[in-house]
Amino acid sequence: MLTIMKKPWYRLLHWQIIIGMILGVLFGVTAASQGWSGWTKDWVSPFGALFIKMLKLIAVPLVLTSLVTGVASLSDVKKLSRMGGKTIGLYIGTTAVAVLIGLLLVNALKPGKNLPEDTRTQLQQAHQTDATTRQSAAKQVQERGKLDFIVDIVPDNFFSSASSNNNMLQVVFVSLLLGVGLTMTPNKQSQPVLNVFDGLMEAVIQIVHLIMRLAPIGVFGLMANTIVTLAQDDLGQVKDLLNALGFYCIVVVSGLAVHCFVIYPILLKLFTNIPYRRFFSGISSAQLLAFSTSSSGATLPVTMDRCQKRLGVSEEVTSFVLPLGATINMDGTALYQAVASVFIAQALGMDLTLAAQATIVLTAVLASIGTAAVPGAGIIMLVIILEAINVPSEGIALILGVDRILDMMRTVTNVTGDATVATVIAASENQLNFPPETPTS
Ligand code: ASP
Repeated sequence: MLTIMKKPWYRLLHWQIIIGMILGVLFGVTAASQGWSGWTKDWVSPFGALFIKMLKLIAVPLVLTSLVTGVASLSDVKKLSRMGGKTIGLYIGTTAVAVLIGLLLVNALKPGKNLPEDTRTQLQQAHQTDATTRQSAAKQVQERGKLDFIVDIVPDNFFSSASSNNNMLQVVFVSLLLGVGLTMTPNKQSQPVLNVFDGLMEAVIQIVHLIMRLAPIGVFGLMANTIVTLAQDDLGQVKDLLNALGFYCIVVVSGLAVHCFVIYPILLKLFTNIPYRRFFSGISSAQLLAFSTSSSGATLPVTMDRCQKRLGVSEEVTSFVLPLGATINMDGTALYQAVASVFIAQALGMDLTLAAQATIVLTAVLASIGTAAVPGAGIIMLVIILEAINVPSEGIALILGVDRILDMMRTVTNVTGDATVATVIAASENQLNFPPETPTS
């Protein structure tokens, strides 16, 4: 009889990542208080940067190979458009709910009303330059045509789209097209091509596993770097910031927690057979990476791997739903943008009408679709929301100091949302095989 040996806890990947994170934070705090920030940036941060680069390196090959093989094996191309419709509907629906939760909390708790006048002036002065940089980045987005975001999905040259991780939607588009093309090609010609993609995909998955072994060291470097960048040899500065903006942070984090621990479990309960505890432990490595990298794009290879191996979502669904989600589904970002915009209005003494709040719902849903899956992208799109409701966008200076911390939290929600939708879609298409046959660590 087969006996399954349980690994001791310290050999499980998610515990190793947690230990790496805790040690990274402790090291960062020590470095900031001892004036070792420069040394840390030179000798510790590069390990984090290397890890992120490896994850990003593997994202395009993973999406390309798994989507081509996934689509080419589809018996029925109509199924693809049905899945596409459901996926986009769920992504938009969950994002709208996230915005509403954010708005409810920020209007009820009013964190901006408590901000003393002198703290406001100090924050505004300290982050003025950074705020201006974000405003000009937002201006570039605003200057684009209304339908450019659709035009942008189609590349005019595949190699140029595959050469930038920010063009993931273009890679998805080309992979779909190639997959469909292959299904229309006679078997004799398509099979060798598919065999190559299949072999490449397997190799890429093995590389993802290799990279994940480095995760504990990578997150150590990332966390240490985040702390010294925030504190810059002065830990007191972080304490002051948290004192001034603590209530605002609590409101954002509570909203994210409600969305993660109430809304997603409801969806899982209604549409799948996965108990929410098993769901969360299944994707915990992806969540921890989202937290330490602040990038759902960099986390994508791990999210795909976990959904397939730990939750039993089919390859076809993971390879279609998750890359799309990493680019267009950002529940955490949208919730944060709703709270942040009302917070800034409250702090500046402005009362937002119901119409302005409705504009927030619409623009936050659209803005989160257009937000890149990289650190700090959410605050650039926030400028656009503020302008839509006539709140001065210089106001982002008030919250820039704590943006990185909240970015880590909202990215976890973004990734959890993608995994939830992938699971629900898989269940609705009869492609959820939970518990999977051979779960890996
Ligand atoms: N960092 C977020 C992500 O990658 C985007 C943002 O809200 O800034 O999902």
